[in-house]
Formats: sequence, structure tokens, C-alpha cells
Amino acid sequence: ATPTAIMVATGVGANNGVLIKGGDALERAQMVKYVVFDKTGTLTQGKASVTTARVFTGMERGEFLTLVASAEDQPMILAPFMAQASSEHPLAKAIVEYARHFHFFDEPSTTKDTQNRSKESKFSSWLLDVSDFSALPGRGVQCFIDGKQILVGNRKLMTENGICIPTFAEDFVVELEESAKTGILVAYDSALIGVLGVADPLKREAVVVVEGLVKMGVKPIMVTGDNWRTARAVAREVGIQDVRAEVMPAGKADVIRSFQKDGSIVAMVGDGINDSPALAAADIGMAIGAGTDIAIEAADYVLMRNNLEDVITAIDLSRKTFSRIR
Ligand code: ADP
Ligand code: MG
Repeated sequence: ATPTAIMVATGVGANNGVLIKGGDALERAQMVKYVVFDKTGTLTQGKASVTTARVFTGMERGEFLTLVASAEDQPMILAPFMAQASSEHPLAKAIVEYARHFHFFDEPSTTKDTQNRSKESKFSSWLLDVSDFSALPGRGVQCFIDGKQILVGNRKLMTENGICIPTFAEDFVVELEESAKTGILVAYDSALIGVLGVADPLKREAVVVVEGLVKMGVKPIMVTGDNWRTARAVAREVGIQDVRAEVMPAGKADVIRSFQKDGSIVAMVGDGINDSPALAAADIGMAIGAGTDIAIEAADYVLMRNNLEDVITAIDLSRKTFSRIR
């Protein structure tokens, strides 16, 4: 393709909200064999919401939610590098939002809007003081409240900290996972005190896009830090056969490299900080425009409309621009 053709294609992309960083990226997209999708925030809306909260101890529901929300509502953590800003994680947002809703709106129906508003302004002071906070990538969060350790995250986080998961709790988590939800376990003062179920619906176009890629001869893959059971349930819904789950953030780049081994051209589509090494490792990194800045920086393409159909738009554009000269 001539420089003019590349310029025209870049312009067409921009008009469709597909920002292409350079002619090389534009050229590589036509040869793509695998498209690896991140799950949370990429295939799914990233607007997770808590569907269930079960407390196992005698603790009051409100107290339980306050504890969990306080642990999750932490400011941006920049180091270690891979730690996603905790409070920006879709799961953290969902939990804080749920607790906020519980405290401000689950009042007797006589509660007036104005009262709610004045209570809302008190919300931040209402959260508990937290010390020694850390976000543990691919696991959850950890901190101390009232001198006692609180852990919020997956099984791995519990196991690594010697927290015993009773059978009834495990059964409940499995039940959540089989219905495509993520089970979040909560331990306080060395005991499991409850479980939250979080649902994150698929983007409305996800199924059609996956189908479209297959028709174009491109193989879709899903990669996620989430557990295998949830991952398989989501993959089944979206029509993806090849899934890699329980992948630690650094491992996503390894997944990309494993598909590149035989010389195949691999695209990665992601939105999070933990996707950026994979976006950089891929032959074509595509960041969701609504994603984190670090992901956008690591990518060759930015999909400004946050619509997965633009993955197909990008490949089509490349094929149309370069096919004639080959
Ligand atoms: P994904 O690859 O799907 O974006 P992540 O690598 O961000 O997933 O997280 C993997 C898993 O780690 C989550 O499914 C969850 O179990 C746990 N986790 C991560 N961050 C948090 C958090 N802030 N609160 C609770 N659990 C978390
Ligand atoms: Mg994500």
C-alpha cells in the first residue's frame, strides 16, 4: 500500500473511533490468526454488581459490608507496578457500591431523598480506618481494620493465608461460579466470615463479534485472572472454546507468546493495567478506550467507542488496505 493509502485508512479508522498508532500495526492486523480477549471489562461490561452477600457469622449484615467496603475503597496504588489501582478494579467498585446502597437506600421506605443525600456526604467518614493496605494482583486485597487482618479475594488468597474454607462456603462459591458469577471470599481475624457473589454481564455485541471472527478465519481465545469455573461459564455464553483461566497478570503475556511460537500473528484485546504486558507482547495490541491509561499506552490500536465490533472493523480495514498489493 502507498503512504497515501495508509493515511486514508488511518483516517477512516479515526472516523470510526479506531485509533491506529502507525502503519506497521495497520499492516499486521490483516494477518491476524488469534484474537486473545481479556474477560473482565473487555468481553464483559466491567460493570460488575454484587448479586448476593452471605454472612456466615453472627455479624450484622451492615457491619460485614462496612468492613468489606472499607478494605476495597482504597486509593490508587502505583507500586508494585502490576497492582491495579484497587478501588478502580471492577470488583472493588461493585462491592463499595453495594455497601453504599445498603447503607443509604435500604432504609425504611419513609426515608426522604434529602435525608439520604445528607447521609451520603457522611459516607466517607463512615468507612473504617484501614492500615497496611496492599492489593495482591490476581488474588484480592489485604489490610488491617481494628488491628485485625481482613482479606477480600479468591480461594488462592485464603489458602495462602492459611484460612480454612468450610464445605458449605465452598459449595456456595461453586454454585455462584457455575452461574458465571465470581465468588469473593472475606476473612476477618483469621476466619472466613462471608462470601459475595458478583455478576458482570457480557457486552451486548460480544457474541456477534466472536461469531464474526470465526467466520473470518480468526480464532478467538479468552484469558482471565478469574477462576476456571466462572471463566468456562462466561466462555460458553460468549461462544469461545479456548479459555485460559487463573492467569496471573504477568502470565497473560506468556499466553500471547505461546500462540506466537509457530510464527502466528496474535492480537490481544484488553482494558486493564494487568493487560498491558500482554498488549505489548502481542503483534497487535488493542486497548478498550474506556480502559486504563497504561493499557492504552501499551497498545497499537485504541477502540474509542468501547465496542468490540471495532476489532472486526480494524481487521477489515487492514485487509482492504493491504490485500491488493500482495
Ligand atoms: P481479570 O483478568 O479477569 O481482569 P484480575 O486478574 O484483575 O482478573 O483478578 C483475578 C481475580 O483476583 C478476580 O477474579 C478476583 O477473584 C481476585 N481479585 C482481584 N482484585 C480483587 C479485588 N479488588 N477484590 C476482590 N477480589 C479481587
Ligand atoms: Mg480486564
